[in-house]
Amino acid sequence: MNSTVQLYDATLRDGMGGGGMSLTAQEKLRVVERLDELGVDMIEAGFPSSNPKEAELFELLAAAPLSHAEIVAFGMTRRRDRTADDDEGLSVLAASIAPIVTLVGKSSMLHVEKVVRVTPEQNLAMIADSIAFLVGQSKRVLFDAEHFFDGWRADPRYAIETLRVAADAGSERVVLCDTNGGSLPSLVTEAVVAVGEALPGVAIGIHTHDDAGCAVANSLVAIEAGATQVQGTINGIGERTGNANLVTIIADLQIKMGLEVLPAENLAKLTETAHFVDELLNRAPNPSQPYVGKNAFAHKAGMHAAGVSADSSTFEHVEPSSVGNRSDVIVSELAGRATISDKGNSAGLALDDATSARIVERVKQLEHLGYQFEAADGSFELLMRRESGQYEPLFRLEGWRVTVEQRADGEIVSEATIAIWINEQRYERSASGNGPVNALDSALRSAVTEVYPEVGEVELVNYKVRILDESHGTDAVIRVLIDASDGEDQWGTIGVGENVIAASWQALVDSLEYRQQQGRRKGDG
Ligand SMILES: [Zn+2]
Repeated sequence: MNSTVQLYDATLRDGMGGGGMSLTAQEKLRVVERLDELGVDMIEAGFPSSNPKEAELFELLAAAPLSHAEIVAFGMTRRRDRTADDDEGLSVLAASIAPIVTLVGKSSMLHVEKVVRVTPEQNLAMIADSIAFLVGQSKRVLFDAEHFFDGWRADPRYAIETLRVAADAGSERVVLCDTNGGSLPSLVTEAVVAVGEALPGVAIGIHTHDDAGCAVANSLVAIEAGATQVQGTINGIGERTGNANLVTIIADLQIKMGLEVLPAENLAKLTETAHFVDELLNRAPNPSQPYVGKNAFAHKAGMHAAGVSADSSTFEHVEPSSVGNRSDVIVSELAGRATISDKGNSAGLALDDATSARIVERVKQLEHLGYQFEAADGSFELLMRRESGQYEPLFRLEGWRVTVEQRADGEIVSEATIAIWINEQRYERSASGNGPVNALDSALRSAVTEVYPEVGEVELVNYKVRILDESHGTDAVIRVLIDASDGEDQWGTIGVGENVIAASWQALVDSLEYRQQQGRRKGDG
């Protein structure tokens, strides 16, 4: 077993194949930045120009400074009737900003004959030519051997031949894919060992899917058998039953197998990162998810709780704070305060112990009401400011009113009127909009920007609504998340309430207020 294993994230490409998964280019960039902060080594961003959204993402990535991670573009080997330098897809990959290309090709005879319908030799040539072409264009190439385990079971000689050809053509690694997700750990071990013996010195990666419930197990046994890169997605998102869950794999490798895949201090960011991705996807985090789920360390039975209080190792397989989670019984006040004071520091706020403790309490109360701050960094900073007395409200609200009217011709008109006070001056403004929240936003801005013009730069780039308790129908609690940007920074804010417009108002005010506070810090406001 090797002492270093690379982490390769496929959330933004393979993960997006799952039902209902969709992220804007801006949101994908935020995911990339978080994964970089966590310490992931390679991040697969997709095919550089399959659609305008991907093209925009690669443009954003070109301008985004990453501290550790490398961006990977994903594509296919050349078409059977083209030469490599005449293949459009390969040209796009060669021109992309990504230093690394993952190239998927066939390694199973069945697929070669029935799906691509080329001879076994033609398939080998497609692999070799495509890799040689990209290497010639100064790209580092990983070869994704699609359906490898099924192919190896049916025809081991040919499956391994595809890998040999890829390595000879210059790919720095061959990645064994369990594309259908149906393999069991015993087979994966056997195959990885066989590849290691047939191709000594060739670096191996593992890419699994969870159709047989073994994606994480298959990844771990592959590493035990000699693989040195593991691919997966955050929270295991992906088509059908999902990809290998990289979150679980990271914790298993680092804590159980003693492989330092992340800098030690970053492991505690795992829970937050996992929840962040779920929040962006507007998905409720799975409470039973290993390591990071809300219930992962919750103890119900009285005896367990007493045991945990006495010695946590009696009923907990790992220390919850090691992965940034907490046990429901003994909320680690100390760990909570340390996290808060870290966050305070990065916002330029020095928080003393008493203030940090008060913030921990406040967060707990708010979480109980339905707030979640993982994707609402803007609102969280404002909360820290309020609790530490380093806060000045943007305005004082006198009141707002929104009307939504449907006319006989079917047209729907929304209008908002607000009255606010800034520096002892009263501002009353009305505006219409394509919806009630949009109208409120316009009315509020027209007043606020008179005093704080920089707030006018704020653009609301995303607006998401989630019903928290679906059993209550229209009485349910509603959570609104807004992502805002000033063209330079992006931040998230949150509002919660029984009324969707009131919840939106909270998130809206936070998004403008955050920008104005930032301006005060930067000195432009
Ligand atoms: Zn896959």
